[in-house]
Amino acid sequence: MTLFEKIIARQIPADIVYEDEKVIAFHDIHPQAPTHVLIVPKKPIPRVGEATPDDAAVLGHLLVKAAEVAGQLHLDGGYRLVINNGRDGGETVPHLHCHILGGRPLLWPPG
Ligand code: AMP
Repeated sequence: MTLFEKIIARQIPADIVYEDEKVIAFHDIHPQAPTHVLIVPKKPIPRVGEATPDDAAVLGHLLVKAAEVAGQLHLDGGYRLVINNGRDGGETVPHLHCHILGGRPLLWPPG
């Protein structure tokens, strides 16, 4: 079971801000911006590089809901969605997730 499956199963606590049958969103435990939420498909796809055509609907839903959650969190000045893939991408949890970052101006390029 992945760390995020344990959050979905309520085996470990999280500050959940949105949930439906396909995705869950909760505050990141180590926020990198004033608002830092993760939105996670309940299906434990390890990383976007291992998504298949069968996952297209859930990944589309994830992005639509990421934007809705950003609205719910009043990120009216803008926000950034990030998906880290693999070692060089900075992935640390092998359960696909999209970071929603906002509440301050974000630099580009990222470090
Ligand atoms: P990544 O490095 O893209 O794989 O992102 C994993 C994210 O999960 C990091 O930003 C961590 O801070 C976050 N994280 C790890 N454990 C927890 C937890 N128990 N609850 C919420 N976020 C977590």
